[in-house]
Formats: sequence, C-alpha cells, structure tokens
Amino acid sequence: MCAAPSKTASELLHTPVQFLKGVGPERAALLQRLGLHAAKDLLFFFPRDYQDLSSVKTLGEVREGDAVSIAGTIEEIDARVSDSGRSVLGILVRQGDEHLRGVWFNQPFLRQRFKFGQRIMLSGVVKRQGMCWEMRHPRVQSIESEGVTAGPLLPVYPLTEGLKQTQLRRIVQGVLELCQTAIDEVFPDAVLHRMRVWPMAAALPQVHFPRDAASLEQARRRFVYQELLVLQLALALRRYQLRQRGQAEPLPIDSRIDARIRRLFPFALTADQEQAIQEICVDLSGRVPMNRLLQGDVGSGKTVVAIYAMLLAVAHGQQAALMAPTEVLARQHWQTLQACLAKAQVRLALLTGACTTAERNRLKTEIAAGERDIVVGTQAMLHAEMQLPRLGLVVVDEQHKFGVKQRAQLRGAGRDPHYLVMTATPIPRTVAMTLYGDLDVSTLRGNPPGRQGVHTYRGDDAQREAWWEFFRRKLREGRQGFVIAPLVDGSDESDVSSVEQMYASLTNGPLEEFRVGLVHGRLSAEEKGAAMDAFLAQQTQVLVATSVVEVGVDIPNASLMTIENGERFGLAQLHQLRGRVRRGPYPGFVCVFANPVTAESEQRLQAFLASTDGFELAETDFRLRGPGDLFGTQQHGLPPLRIADVIRDAEILQEARNMADELIRNDPDLRQPEYARLKRMVITRYGQAMDLGDVG
Ligand code: ADP
Ligand code: MG
Repeated sequence: MCAAPSKTASELLHTPVQFLKGVGPERAALLQRLGLHAAKDLLFFFPRDYQDLSSVKTLGEVREGDAVSIAGTIEEIDARVSDSGRSVLGILVRQGDEHLRGVWFNQPFLRQRFKFGQRIMLSGVVKRQGMCWEMRHPRVQSIESEGVTAGPLLPVYPLTEGLKQTQLRRIVQGVLELCQTAIDEVFPDAVLHRMRVWPMAAALPQVHFPRDAASLEQARRRFVYQELLVLQLALALRRYQLRQRGQAEPLPIDSRIDARIRRLFPFALTADQEQAIQEICVDLSGRVPMNRLLQGDVGSGKTVVAIYAMLLAVAHGQQAALMAPTEVLARQHWQTLQACLAKAQVRLALLTGACTTAERNRLKTEIAAGERDIVVGTQAMLHAEMQLPRLGLVVVDEQHKFGVKQRAQLRGAGRDPHYLVMTATPIPRTVAMTLYGDLDVSTLRGNPPGRQGVHTYRGDDAQREAWWEFFRRKLREGRQGFVIAPLVDGSDESDVSSVEQMYASLTNGPLEEFRVGLVHGRLSAEEKGAAMDAFLAQQTQVLVATSVVEVGVDIPNASLMTIENGERFGLAQLHQLRGRVRRGPYPGFVCVFANPVTAESEQRLQAFLASTDGFELAETDFRLRGPGDLFGTQQHGLPPLRIADVIRDAEILQEARNMADELIRNDPDLRQPEYARLKRMVITRYGQAMDLGDVG
C-alpha cells in the first residue's frame, strides 16, 4: 500500500508493517517476531553484516597467494580424520569450469553449515594444490542477492524462520523510499558539527544500502555514535544525580589511622594495592559517596584493599558491610577478616543462609544497635531488612553477579554509604566505561610476590591415566586438588547426579586411596561450609565440586585441578576456576578435558590454554561472545546495544563519553530545547534500567 502525500511525518513513521510495500498479514507476523511493528522500526533495524560483492573474483583471474573472495556452488563435502588423528573438512566449490577447495582442520562441527548445491562465497588466500585452487580456513558467506538494486555491499539482516534475506532487503528498501522525507535529526547542529558525523537523512539509507565501503563506514559511525552518546548521557546523568543526591559521611585518612590499619597486615602492600588505596582514600574523604570499581585478576589481592577501606570506616565509628555472591565466599571473607583482626577490637558478624532464625535475629538486633562494626554476608542480607544505623561503606564482591540496580538497594535511610565494588573478571577499559560507566575504576594489574604460576594442559581420553598418576603423586607430596564436574544442563537435579557420579567413580577408581570431599549447589549452607572447612583444614585431600567453588575460595595448599567437560564453561569461568590453584606458594597444574562442539567453544579453550592473563582473556571473551551478550539484559539490566561494538568502536565510545560529560556539565538536566529529542531517547531507553530520577 502506498502512502498518500498528505500523511504527516509521524504517521508515515508509524505505518504498521502490515501496510508496507511487500508485506501482508503473514509477513507482518514474521516481522513482529523480530520486534518490528512500524515503519520506523525497520528504518532502525540495522544489518548485522554486509555481503561484499566487490572483491569477488573469478578463478581465472587469481594468482598464487592472492587474498580474494570467490563465489560458487558446493559440489562435494568431505569430512574425515587424517592418519595423524586430525579432522579434515573439505568442500569443493565450482565456479564455471574451475574448482576451488576450502579446507578446515580440527573443526568438524563446521560440516553442518554446508549443503550440496548451496551458493556460497569463500574469502581467503588462494594456493595452487595440484589441479585446483585451495583456501585454508576461509571465511564463508552464503549468497542471495536477487531483487534489490544496490551497490556492491548488500545488507545482511537478522532473520526469523519463514522470512528470507531478499524479502527483508526489499521491504527495507521500500520503507526507506516511503519515509525519505519523514526522517528527523536527533543531534543538535553543534554536535553534528563538532563530531563531524553524517546527518540522519544521509546516514540512514547508506547504513542499509551503502554506495561503497567508505560511505558505510561514515553511516555506521553516525549510528554507533548516536547509540553510544545516548548511553553515555544516561550514565552521565546517573553520575550527576548520585553526586547531587549523595550525602555521605566523609572518612578522611590520617597517619595514625593508616599506621593502625597497616599493622594488621602480615605483608607489605604491592604498588598497585597502594595506588588503589590512595584512590579510595581520596573518594572516602568527601561528602559525595564513593562509587568505585576495584578490578583485579583472581588472586591479585583485592580483599586487603577492601579491608583497608572498611577499617577506615570503622575508625570513624561507622559500620561497613561486605556482600559476597555465595555463602562459601562470604564465609571465606569472614575468616580472612577474623584472622586479620585477631588483635584489633573490631566486632564482626557473619550473616548467611546458614544462620538459624534465632541467630539471625540476634545478629540483626546487635547490628541495629551499632554493636557490630563489620557485617559480612550474602545477597540474602540485601533482602533481610537490615538496619545498619551507621552504615558508612558497602563493599560488594564479584560485581558481575549483581546488576546495576541492585547496587542501589543497600543505600541507608539517612546518609548514603560509600560504595566499593570488586570484580575478579577483569573488564576491558571500554567495557568498564559502558557497563560500569557510572563508576570510577581502580585496577590491580600485578600479583603479590611469590606466586609460582600455573600450567594448563588439555587432556584427551588417552592421557587420562597419566594425568591421574601425576595427580596422585602430587597428592602424596602433600598437595590438594580440585575436580570440577560438568554442569549437565544447568538443572539442579542432573548437575547433582553428574557430580555425585563423578565422586563415586573417582573414589572407587583413580582416587580410592585418598580422602575426597564433595560440594555442590544442592547441599545446605552448613553442609557446604563443612565440606569447605574440611578441605581447608586438609582433612580432605581432594574436593569434587561443581562451579560453586568458582568464586573466591582461597586454599593455598591446593595446586591441582581437573576440569571435566571444559567446553561447558565460559572463558571467564574457566579462568576463575584456574585461579583457585594459582594462589599459593606451589606451582599450579590444571588439566582440562573437553569435547568442543562449536567453533566458539574450541576458540575459548584455545584462548584459555594460551594465556593466563585475565585481562587478555577478558578481551578475547568479550570478542567471542560479542557485544550483544556482554551487554545482555539479564546480566546487567540494560537493553542491548544494536549497532555499536564496544571493543571495535572503543574510540567512538571515548568521544561519546567526553561529549556526554560536557553536555551534562553545562546543562545537567538537558533542558535546552535542542536536546529535547536526545533526552527523550535517553529516558525511553535507559530511564528505568538506570533508575534515572525526575529528569523527564
Ligand atoms: P583476590 O583479588 O582474588 O580477592 P585476595 O585478596 O584473596 O585476592 O588475595 C589472594 C592472596 O594473596 C591472599 O592469600 C592474600 O593474603 C595474599 N596477598 C594479598 N596481598 C598480598 C601482598 N601484598 N603480599 C603478599 N600476599 C598478599
Ligand atoms: Mg577475592
């Protein structure tokens, strides 16, 4: 259906998809499945990729060693295992009278991507192999381009079953024509000018059907910038509001307090720890509540920094709360604090699900009466209607398990506490700027001295016996070890049965002469605590566990770890697990058994074997998972980014951040009329998720 010229811009943009050219009731339903309801949704439904037809060559033109794209039809698919045990996947692609072979080693799972007769394009370096050209590990794209008039770059949209790429391309092209005159600018002129970004009207058609690569780059840059500016404005608003609302107790440091705290530590602090403490002290001395992220790899010594901050609060007669994501970790923190404070007059409380009701009530009364200085607990504490009358500081361990919003929940009634959040999943700077953009960041890069490092191996079934032999030898030398059992399907029942089976087969098999403990998510808090205590006290030599041990457990004598079904763990999780055996004075040994089924899980494992640097792994992880996932709604409570990629677009992100800071500094509520549209976007997109107060 064609739009009459009398329609207003808004009417045009809100045309229901059903009435668009090339769409009827049936396709409308498919489009709605993709979240596309009106014309404007399609305008901003950005391609996830582009098919580049410009570098396509014919095999007749190519020369040895050229990097080219070749289009053709699949004629043969051949998957086999070579004599040396390597899997080889080959496909034969015909182009006219010539043939090109694509070859992949050790990626048998790619087989399912190919079909006989499929039209595809392979991109890579060509080599002559006998009679035919060959490409090793080429990039693959499927080709369909009929029906649209476009340049050499064709958009590739996310699809849903029943909807074809070509159909969607035609629909989007129709909408662009229909809405040509209705598209409005979001940016004020000043922003457009200073950032030298393309206006909306120029960028929108080009982001869908670019004239050439340079136009695509410019068009994309405009929308990436827009998306990141809106996000950064939301974060800047939040920072501004927290600063405005915030009324915290200033906790200045002086040399007497500093000396009293340092006396309690059995070691000298590392340079990074000193730096972090200094940054924290500056924050704590002010009335604006501290809002700081302390990031550092597993074992980098974050806890000591947190203890320092908590003791500073206590020195000022304030209470401090330390929240951990699991019972096990809460207990561990509590024990660390007890050991550290043995000679100090600081009153501790441990509040977890393991407390009896009577105990919990008693503790709550004492805490409310100000008779406890430091409270350690789990998230349960958050929901326990805690009264902390003099709460000066909240430390949250393992930030990534808490959403942006949860952080706000322990804010006391009167004064706002200072906030320190710790994460052992190192976060690339660009990501910190987005997910944690309302936080300042301190980083512990190095490790405390005296660490022995960790060796990581990939085991296969043939090596199992040798590995257990080694494991037993180390146990006899007095070391301890973990066996991490797979999470089967994430349901409690089957996870428990798999870890119990593992326990049974080990205690009746390779580890029968040793004392073996078992810990998993189904156990009660006391049972978990008892299992951990027994392992810590070396009453058990081996601990069979699910990933409940993932976070934080510190057992210096443990230097061995077997990970089963490594393909089921995320990269960050694997790194966390490995962190358990790299904290003590003994070198750590980790063996991962895995059966990767996807290219991604294979890459994850490769990365895990290749590096022990948490920051590097975090970058790889984010790259593998893609920004969509890292910005996942469930985990962080923020809507996903649609076009920006915080790693690839790091520079634009920084520019957007600077611009947002400047705009908010000059006009904290974005009151000037030329910001009206931007502001509306900020509130619509992030108002709820970030709890942006009355700025509407
Ligand atoms: P994480 O950053 O993983 O929380 P922890 O704070 O638990 O790390 O520290 C790991 C181990 O290193 C602990 O046993 C702790 O006592 C020890 N440690 C921390 N700082 C130092 C230091 N400056 N010198 C020596 N050992 C340290
Ligand atoms: Mg820790």
